Amino acid sequence: MSDYDFQDIETRWQKTWADTGAFEVAEDPKRPKFYCLEMLPYPSGDIHVGHVRNYCITDVISRCKTMRGFNVMHPIGWDALGLPAENAAIKRGIHPEKWTRQNIASMKRQLQRLGFSYPWNREIATCDASYYRWNQWIFLRMLERGIAYRAKAPVNWCPSCLTVLANEQAEGGICWRCKNPVEQRDMEQWFLRITAYQDQLLDDMAQLTAWPERVLVQQKNWVGKSHGAEVDFPVDGGEPIRVFTTRIDTIWGATFMVLAPEHPMVDGLLAGQKDAAARKEQIARLRSQDRRARLEGKVEKEGVFTGRHATNPFTNEKIPIWVGNFVLMGYGTGAIMSVPAHDQRDFEFARKYGLDVRVVIQPEGERLDGATMPAAYDGTGRVVNSGPFDGMTADEAIPKMAEWAQRKGIGRATTTYRLKDWLISRQRYWGTPIPVVYCEKDGMQPVPDEQLPIVLPPDAPFTGEGGNPLEKVKAFVSATCPRCGGKARRETDTMDTFVDSSWYFYRYLSPKKDDGPIEPAAVQYWFPIDLYVGGIEHAILHLVYSRFWTKVMRDLGLVTIDEPVTRLFPQGMVHKDGEVMSKSRGNTIAPDDVIARYGADTLRLYILFAGPPELAMEWSETGIEGPHRFLLRVWRLVARHAEALAKEPAGAPTATLPPAARDLRRKVHQTIDKVTRDIEERIQLNTAVAALMELVNEIYRLEAEVSAGPGRPALREALETVVLLLNPFTPHVCEEMWTRLGHEGGLVRASWPAFDAEVAREDTVELAVQVNGKVRGRVAVPQGASEEHIRAQALAEPRVAEHVVGKQMVKFVVVPGRLVSVVVK
Ligand SMILES: [Zn+2]
Ligand SMILES: [Zn+2]
Repeated sequence: MSDYDFQDIETRWQKTWADTGAFEVAEDPKRPKFYCLEMLPYPSGDIHVGHVRNYCITDVISRCKTMRGFNVMHPIGWDALGLPAENAAIKRGIHPEKWTRQNIASMKRQLQRLGFSYPWNREIATCDASYYRWNQWIFLRMLERGIAYRAKAPVNWCPSCLTVLANEQAEGGICWRCKNPVEQRDMEQWFLRITAYQDQLLDDMAQLTAWPERVLVQQKNWVGKSHGAEVDFPVDGGEPIRVFTTRIDTIWGATFMVLAPEHPMVDGLLAGQKDAAARKEQIARLRSQDRRARLEGKVEKEGVFTGRHATNPFTNEKIPIWVGNFVLMGYGTGAIMSVPAHDQRDFEFARKYGLDVRVVIQPEGERLDGATMPAAYDGTGRVVNSGPFDGMTADEAIPKMAEWAQRKGIGRATTTYRLKDWLISRQRYWGTPIPVVYCEKDGMQPVPDEQLPIVLPPDAPFTGEGGNPLEKVKAFVSATCPRCGGKARRETDTMDTFVDSSWYFYRYLSPKKDDGPIEPAAVQYWFPIDLYVGGIEHAILHLVYSRFWTKVMRDLGLVTIDEPVTRLFPQGMVHKDGEVMSKSRGNTIAPDDVIARYGADTLRLYILFAGPPELAMEWSETGIEGPHRFLLRVWRLVARHAEALAKEPAGAPTATLPPAARDLRRKVHQTIDKVTRDIEERIQLNTAVAALMELVNEIYRLEAEVSAGPGRPALREALETVVLLLNPFTPHVCEEMWTRLGHEGGLVRASWPAFDAEVAREDTVELAVQVNGKVRGRVAVPQGASEEHIRAQALAEPRVAEHVVGKQMVKFVVVPGRLVSVVVK
C-alpha cells in the first residue's frame, strides 16, 4: 500500500458505484426509510464550491443513515426552466433547451466527480415534457376546483425582465431577479388561490416542530394575519372611503385621512377643484417615488391636500382628505385614518402640515398634550376624549367600538391577511405552457387531458424585442376548440417556475410514470421528507408554495399528508474574501481545480470541517491543507498495519486487554457515540470531524503499545472504526482502506459501528477534599485527570467553596487516588 493516489482511488470507486448501481433504492417495508433531500439545483452552468456545501451535508447524512440500516432516498434533479436560459438565448443565440442541457451535462459530471451518493436512475429535469406535463395536469384539476383562475389585476411588471411577477417576487417594488423597480399594470393573469389555504398555512405550522423558528416567523409574517376593523368614512357628494385599522380604539383621535397616491378615488376627489391640475401633478410626482423607499420611510413624508373632506363617523367632525407618499396601495385598503397623537408617521405628517393632534389614549400616570408632545404615543392606556367610551382600557374599547360601528352599518371587525393569491402567468417562453385555449364562441376552454402535454415549440424566435416568443409561433398559437371544434387561440403565458419546484420531490419516487403525476404507494412509503437542506433565502416563496401545493394535492386525493417536510435545515453560505461566493461577484472557486490538487475527499472534508453547517464559512486556500494532511495521516496509519491485520482472524477485543488498549477502546467508543449524535441529531458535522481527528491522534499516541501482542485487536477495532465513521465524509479513500484491511463488499451498505456504553465509560476515582485538615466534601474525577481539572472540580464543590471563598489559599496538594488538601488563611 503505497502513496495516497487520490485521482486513481476516486475515479475507480466512482466507476464501481456507477457500475453496480450502488445508490439505487426501492421501497422496502422491512426497513425504516429516510428521505434526505437537497433543494434541486438550477442548471446555470458550472458548479462552484459555494453550491457544493449543500450537497456535502446531505451526502454525509444519507451515507451515515444507510450504514445505520435505513433505506435512504437521496435523489437529485434540475430546476431547469426559467429566465436565465431564455436570456442566454437572446444574448448568445443559443436555444434555451440546448443551453440548459449542456449545463446539466457539465454540472452532472461535476457532481459525479465529487462522489455524491445519488440514485441517478431517478434524475429529473423540469424542462422535460414528461415532467411539466404533470404541472399542466395538476393545473387543470385546480381549474376545475376554482383554485386556478384568470382575472384582470394590477400586476407587477418588470420592464427589465419583461414579465409579470408575483407579489412575493416584487417585494418593496423591486424585482427579485434583476433588482430593478417594477411598474404597476392592469393585465389579465392566471392566479392560484393560495389565500384559500392561508389559515392552514398558519395552523399547520404547529406540525413543523423541527423547522427553525426564524423560518416559521418569516412565513407567519408573510401570511400576515391581523385582527382589526374596517370603517367607512363618508365623503360629501361621493363614495365613502374605507379604511382598515388595528387600533379602532384611537378613532376619536382621527383628525385627517391620507390616501395612497395610487388610490383609485384620488382623481374623482380632485375633479372640479379649482387647482386640480397642479395638485394632480404633485401627486404624480409622489407616485413616481421609489416604492420601497416610501414604504420604509426613507423619503421625506410629503402630501397634497385634495381640497375635500370626509366625516369621522364616530365624532361626526369634518376632517381633511390628504394624499401622502407614506401610504401604499396593496397594504390595507390604500387609505388610512390618521391618528397623529398615537402613530408616529401620522404625527410627523401632522406636524409638517400643521394638522390637529388630539390625544385619545392616556398612559397610566401621565398627562399627554397634543399641542406639546414631542412624538406620538403608540402604547395602550385609558381611552379619553372619546364620548361614551371614555374610561375604558384600550383593549376593552377595541371590540366595543367595532360593535358600535357594525350596529351603525358603517364598519365591522375583520381579519386581514397580507398574503395575496399567487400570480403564476409569465409572458416568457421557457416555462410550462398553461393548458387552455380561447374560442371566439365558447371563451376560455381547458385542454382535454388526452392532449397533454402541450409541448414548447422548438422554433420560437428569441429576439429580446419584448413580447412573448410563443406568440410568434403560428403553429403553436392556432388551436382547435375542444367544445365546438372551431378555431381557437392557444394561451401563450407560461407558468412561474416556482410551480415546478413545488412538487418535484414527489416525482423522484416514480420519475418515469406516464399515467399520473405520482405513485401513491411510493409516496405513502417515503413521505414525509425526513430532512430537507437548502438555503435560508427559500424560507418564503419556495417553502410556502411547496406547503400550499401539498395541501392542494391532498385535497385532490393524491397524497394523504398535510405537510411535505419534517425537518428543515438551512445551510450557511460560503464566503470568499468576506463576500458571498457568487458568479456575479467573480469570486467563485471551481471544484475541478481543487479536486485536481487535493482530491474530492479532501474538498468534501474541508467544506464540512470549516465550521458549523448552519453558519457562513469563509473559503481559504490554506485552510484546505489541514484536512488533506489529516487524510494522509489516516492513510499512513492504515498502510502500516493493513497487511498484518488483514491476515489475522477477526475477533472482538477481550476484557483482558492491557491498559493502553483499554484506553484506546474507551476513546473509540466515546467517538462512535459523539460522531453518531453529531451527524444524526445535531447535524454538527464539523465537530464530528474534530472528534475523528482526536481519535486518530490517540491512535498515534498509543500505536507502539497496541501494535504488537494482546493489544492488537484494539488497534484493529480503532482503525476500522475510523474508516467506518469517516466514510460518509470521505467515501473514496475509506472504501480503499476498507478493502486493504481485508474486507469485501464495500462500505456503502456496511454496518455503522455499534456503540458500547460500558467500554466508553470513564473510570472515575473519588477524592476526599480537606480544607485545613478537615474533610469538607468529595469529588469524582476521571482516572488520571490533570491537577487543573481536579482543582477546578474540588473548588466548585459547594461545601468546599464555603470554606475557601474570600480567604487566601496558601497550599493545594493532590494525593493521587486518595485526597485533595487545601490550606487557606
Ligand atoms: Zn427584473
Ligand atoms: Zn368553441
